[in-house]
Amino acid sequence: MDRPKLMIPGPVDVTEETLARMGQNVVPHFGAAWVETYNDTVASLKRIFRTGEDLFIMVGSGSAGLDAGVNSLLGKGDRAVLGINGFFGERLEEIARSYGVELIPVRAELGMPVTAEKVEQAVLANPDVKAVIVVHNETSTGVVNPVEAIGNVTRKHNLPLMVDGVTSIGGIEFDMDGWGVDIAVTASQKCLGAPPGLAMIAVSSRAWRIMEQRENPPWGWYLNLLNWRDYRERWKEWHPYPMTMATSNILALRVSLASILGEGIDNTIRRHRAAAKMFRDGIRSIGLKLVADDGFASSTVTAVESWADVPTEKLIGFLESEHGIRIANGIGTMKDRWFRVGHMGPLGTLPERIEPLLKGIEAFAARRAEGEQN
Ligand SMILES: *Cc1c(COP(=O)(O)O)cnc(C)c1O
Repeated sequence: MDRPKLMIPGPVDVTEETLARMGQNVVPHFGAAWVETYNDTVASLKRIFRTGEDLFIMVGSGSAGLDAGVNSLLGKGDRAVLGINGFFGERLEEIARSYGVELIPVRAELGMPVTAEKVEQAVLANPDVKAVIVVHNETSTGVVNPVEAIGNVTRKHNLPLMVDGVTSIGGIEFDMDGWGVDIAVTASQKCLGAPPGLAMIAVSSRAWRIMEQRENPPWGWYLNLLNWRDYRERWKEWHPYPMTMATSNILALRVSLASILGEGIDNTIRRHRAAAKMFRDGIRSIGLKLVADDGFASSTVTAVESWADVPTEKLIGFLESEHGIRIANGIGTMKDRWFRVGHMGPLGTLPERIEPLLKGIEAFAARRAEGEQN
């Protein structure tokens, strides 16, 4: 049987063209021609992040970018406000704690957004905090946190804002400079539609100033942004990063970036929104409950409450074996209760992907209803 089509919240299926580029001969990561290619890739990413600030491509998954951002901005004993409304907020908590950062969590119930008001209350109650960190699109629940409004708060209180944009940048409206975001992170295998392996991290001039003035400079070497900037300047002409760049991944990423920029970022965002609407409408007509309300629902991933009497593994197994589509279960405590669908990237948003998925869920619902009658 064919491999299942991926409709999980990353990694996403990539186009034939992207895949083909990945399979060509390996090229070296240095020299003038390659540096031009690399710099051009960085320039494309800056357009998608909507930033004129610095941006680096790191070899590593999205978590490497998040780890580098936290490590570079904050150190042992520093206090920071962190929005937590799901698994990836908790993941940032783990990362920050690993560096000895003291966190003031601003929590919201699963399925609800972290509000700017609550962030501001936490900032006002803790005048010594050094940063605010938040996940833009909480992939575990399909909730979008109001980064623009949170950015207004951090601007007002003159605090740096770090954002996990792993399932938002390239799929949901994101405006790094307009919203006053200081560190923004994404990864290759989600909205950007490339294979896993690369993290992208953008850094504002304010974030650089903070890093330069830290009493205890960032730890380590690989996940230290000051080191990346240093090598970028010193090895500008040779290779503007401290290590061997994953050239094949970059070349594949370029194919998908070109298609996003060719389509136009606003159109890309609209395409994701339309896909989410189509999927959510379909789920409603099947009679299942969506985790996130329309007002803050994600365009890139949807979490659904499954039937109370069926563990989601059953539905997932059925869709894979009978319909050739792979979706994901819930995360953490909702593992067996929710299922999650990723509708992002170049293929995941296509109606010809979403229709068969809805048909499959409908078929499962019909089978379950029959079972009830027997
Ligand atoms: C997938 C994801 C990550 C982790 O990215 P990795 O590439 O797996 O390290 C972090 N944050 C969010 C919101 C994600 O969806």
